[in-house]
Amino acid sequence: MTRNVTNYKCPNCGGPLKFDAASQKLTCEYCKSSFTNDEVEQYYAVKNEEAAAAPAQFTQEEMGWTDEEAAHLKAYSCPSCGAQIVCDDTTAATSCPYCSNPTIVPAQFAGALKPKYIIPFQLEKQQAMEKLKAFYQGKTLLPTAFKSDNHIEEIKGVYVPFWLYNGTIDADMAFHATRSRTYQEGDYQVTETSNYQAVRRGEVEFEKVPADASQKMSDKYMDALEPFDWTELQNFKMSYLPGYLADRYDVSDQEDEIRADSRMKNSTVALLSSTVIGYESVVPERTYARRIAGEAVYALLPVWVLSTKYQDRQYLFTMNGQTGKMVGSLPMDSRKFLFWFAIVIAIVMAISAAVWFLWIVRAA
Ligand SMILES: [Zn+2]
Ligand SMILES: [Zn+2]
Repeated sequence: MTRNVTNYKCPNCGGPLKFDAASQKLTCEYCKSSFTNDEVEQYYAVKNEEAAAAPAQFTQEEMGWTDEEAAHLKAYSCPSCGAQIVCDDTTAATSCPYCSNPTIVPAQFAGALKPKYIIPFQLEKQQAMEKLKAFYQGKTLLPTAFKSDNHIEEIKGVYVPFWLYNGTIDADMAFHATRSRTYQEGDYQVTETSNYQAVRRGEVEFEKVPADASQKMSDKYMDALEPFDWTELQNFKMSYLPGYLADRYDVSDQEDEIRADSRMKNSTVALLSSTVIGYESVVPERTYARRIAGEAVYALLPVWVLSTKYQDRQYLFTMNGQTGKMVGSLPMDSRKFLFWFAIVIAIVMAISAAVWFLWIVRAA
């Protein structure tokens, strides 16, 4: 029976084969053999093709799912241990919860679902944990207990689907600008104001403007992970995924386009506006911007997701798996906050009192 998923295993000993960020190769945990992406691609080519074409192994009735559940869930059978793997219908790479073999769902990359590019993970789990600790450093208002060691609940490396937009923005803007000079004429002080209309027109080309294509991921957090270094963009290969999680996109390129378009337009408007200089006041009168060309390509980008729990609240952090940039919100210690607030107030009051005292002395 052909299964819908493939397990990536060492060709030498059958141990789990995982992509190693440090060596950028697939390595076996047991016999320490390592293989290039091309070698593993070749080794798994037929298995992946067969898995992508295999009929679904479990029906809705067999799983006892409601229509709602059936629309969002998928069930696979692990080729290594035979256990049932239940996951979201967007899951493209995971690991078997029972035998922990890296598991890939080739159908999630078939046809139009195949990403064009991928940035492979550059930073490992250990580095993500160290970066989180460094992120806490110097945060004066952070509760001391939060910093202590045993609080990382979950850490996972996820290849997040993104659309990368290329495009040209055509913009036409007019500004009302003024310049004035003041001079003395007899008994009068005269202010002369000159009014100008400044016009700016131009086309700005954009390349690889990212917008995440996963409903699960917060747009705010994903935007904040930028920039990515696009020179490390590789052609997509499934063999980059074993050992990590991956989701296929569930936000279409048309849906994400609104977000990408407005980013490109805002940057163009800011760029044109920044050239209107040498005036006392500048007010935009007319702003016109539209995208005249462009396309979106599908890519997977590496993100470490770390979740911590503190006083029954979940705190989520995400880290750019390529650059190490960390994004997340931290709890605030209200007692520390009050302490520092009181110190600031005390300093302000001391300065005011000193100024007031000097003023009295001088006036006397
Ligand atoms: Zn091995
Ligand atoms: Zn298994």
